[in-house]
Formats: sequence, C-alpha cells, structure tokens
Amino acid sequence: MSKFDSDMTRYRMIYDIHTHTTFSHGKGSIEDNVKAATAKGLSAVGIADHGPGHMLYGIGKNVLPVMRKEIQRLQPLYPSIKILLGVEANIINISGKLDITDEEVSDLDYILAGYHYGILGERPAFALKMHMLNLMAGKRAKQGKSGLKKTNTGLVIKALHENRIKVLTHPGDKGPFDLIAIAKACEETGTMMEISTWHEAPTMDELKKIVSSGVRFIISSDAHSPQRVGTFAPGFKRALEAGVDPARIDNLEET
Ligand SMILES: [Zn+2]
Ligand SMILES: [Zn+2]
Repeated sequence: MSKFDSDMTRYRMIYDIHTHTTFSHGKGSIEDNVKAATAKGLSAVGIADHGPGHMLYGIGKNVLPVMRKEIQRLQPLYPSIKILLGVEANIINISGKLDITDEEVSDLDYILAGYHYGILGERPAFALKMHMLNLMAGKRAKQGKSGLKKTNTGLVIKALHENRIKVLTHPGDKGPFDLIAIAKACEETGTMMEISTWHEAPTMDELKKIVSSGVRFIISSDAHSPQRVGTFAPGFKRALEAGVDPARIDNLEET
C-alpha cells in the first residue's frame, strides 16, 4: 500500500457541518441526516440549508426557529452526536451583506457562505448580470476574463470581511475567482476554506496554488441526501494529491 493509500485509510471525519435537508432542496429530514451521521461515527453533524435569498432552494422566512426546535427535540434522542444549526448563506451583494438578518444569525451555531446562481439581493440587476456572465463564462474562464474574475473575487473578499463566516463553501465554483487572494482573505478573517466532496472545488490545481498559504481547510459532504452525509474521501484524495498536510484539515483526525 502506498503512503497515499495508507493516509486515505488512516484518517476519519470528525464532523460534517455542510448537509442539506428538505428545508431547502435536500432529500432527507434533519433526523435522517442525524441518523446517517451517527451510523458513520461522526461526533457532530450540522444542518446548513440554503439562505433565503436563493430563489429556487432557499429556506422560507421564519424557518430557522422551526429547524432549531426540531434539533432541540432530536438532541436528547441522539446523545452520541452533537447536532448543530447553521446556514449556507449566499454571496452576491456588493456591500458584502449576506442573505440572513442579524437576528437570524444570533440563533445559529455557525455560518457557511458561498457563491451561487439565483440570488437577487438588494441590487437585482447587478446580481442577474453577474450570474449571466459567470454562467456564460463557465469553466473555460477560469484562467481568462480578468474583469469578471476581479469582480467575483472582490465580492467574496468583501463578504469575508463583513461577516463572521466559518467556512467559505466550494471556493472557485460557478465562475472565475482568484483563489490566492481569497485564501489570503480567509486566513486574515479566520475563515476555513471548504474542500467539497460534492462539487470539484477547489480543483486539485487550485489547491496546489493555495497550499503554501496559511489557510485552514475543512472537508464537507455538501450532502443533499442522507446517504452522502459524512462522505469525505473524494475531497481528501484531492487534498493529498495537491500536497495539503492533513493536519491543516480541521475535521479530520488520525485513527
Ligand atoms: Zn453551495
Ligand atoms: Zn450546499
């Protein structure tokens, strides 16, 4: 067995805080995700459905208290695992604001944030233009289109500085971004960069570019079905191939 293969089997995932439920567009309930996480031996699981700004998948208004209540009901039934409530907020606001209110934030255990299509926010025309440009640019624009890359990167960096974001989700996905500048901003703001096992983001090449930064990483399943909760191997494989020291991945531990 190569060192690479033995590293893959020597580590376990401690917690997975990026999972979706039927409160946005996941397939299972909170309890389904908790059961799946318990079966995989995780110490904590977090429910982080899409913020309300997402036109298609966002949680409804006043839904977070309902989710919190359900977690309070479930917690005593599953004492071996800590159940957390978060949100996957949306970045598309020039002012750096996310699509959740301060009041909503106060009842959350953490905030994840990422760039998604389908968010309008306070300047709908701007948001729509950005989504169209990013959609048209697609993956091919990762190296080129410096104007678009600059705007995208600026939006993310502004949001990082304006909010207490625990994790930046799927960095580099859905448009061209300068991940070196974003990694620096994550480091400055104490935000972890997600290595997604659902989206291939960051890619291995992107990880190689930021491996020399001091940023900390977290691996997430971004599970939209209970079966995928706790999945970390594809992300871990990319991280190892890119030369990321497993000690820099917050939610993995050596068995
Ligand atoms: Zn996402
Ligand atoms: Zn997600």
